[in-house]
Amino acid sequence: MNAKDFNVNALAANEKHRLWLDIDGWQLPVLCICGASAGPRLVLFGAVHGDEYDGPEVIHRIFAQVQPDQLCGTLLMVPVCNVPAYEVVQRSSPIDGANLARVFPGNPRGGITEQIAYWLTEKCIRGADLLLDIHSAGVAYDLPNMVGWTHSDAPHHQAGEAAARVFGAPVVWAHPAPVPPGRSLSAADGLGVPSLYTEAPGGGRVSPETLSLFVNGVTNVMQYMGMLAGKPTPAAPQHELIGNGNLDQTILSPCAGHFRADVKLLQDVRFGQRLGTVYDLLGNELAVLTAPADGRVILLRALHRVKVGDGLAQITGVNR
Ligand SMILES: [Zn+2]
Repeated sequence: MNAKDFNVNALAANEKHRLWLDIDGWQLPVLCICGASAGPRLVLFGAVHGDEYDGPEVIHRIFAQVQPDQLCGTLLMVPVCNVPAYEVVQRSSPIDGANLARVFPGNPRGGITEQIAYWLTEKCIRGADLLLDIHSAGVAYDLPNMVGWTHSDAPHHQAGEAAARVFGAPVVWAHPAPVPPGRSLSAADGLGVPSLYTEAPGGGRVSPETLSLFVNGVTNVMQYMGMLAGKPTPAAPQHELIGNGNLDQTILSPCAGHFRADVKLLQDVRFGQRLGTVYDLLGNELAVLTAPADGRVILLRALHRVKVGDGLAQITGVNR
């Protein structure tokens, strides 16, 4: 069906639905479970970046596991949002070069990436009670299993934080408002919809640990929202991080070469500490990366070959 004709509220209750939404010749996969009784709408997005597979893996399992007669409300899921980028195992679209996570709320008359963002915003996020956008480190980076949210006293930010804490990730990361522009979370923010996102190690695969953690996390959130029976049982976080605008700097490679990290993920570092090195193919140092501030390492480049401007590492603050 054409994306503009899709109306989640018109789908039959007490049923599972598999749909393709046509957007300018591309087919967007949609999985929806409409519960036996009315209730909240939870929206899950996967593969907003085309080389992140945690979203589709988690969403397919949740779709198989949750039965409509046990569900109160609507579970609306898009296992792969960035279909053109997914097709070529890339973070961004090969058609227009755009990063889907930078163009929300999109534009129905823009390129394919902006059109996808527009229809995801209008048909999924608008009217939702919560958005969970499942990301991972993709093929080039390494990140811990974590959940993040926008932090402020606004009711929809507080609701996002409450859901994020119920998810039960070992690393939790609060980002002081405002939300940076272009994200699915910014589109949700603009509509007053609470939101959260996940990250995971990525690497072109999904570990059994991440899969189990995220399926449990989504189940916890659904129980918390009253969509499924039972009480959520989140584990306590091991790392409480806070992203502050001054500390949140992805350090970019000043040159092309072969990158090797000198620190580990979630290691505490001091200002000026060596984080990694870019070498030439004879092993000569081309550039040494140092920490721009005290903090904890939240992201590292995993793919050794780097070009000028590739992200190599990111440091963030520690909440407690
Ligand atoms: Zn991503």
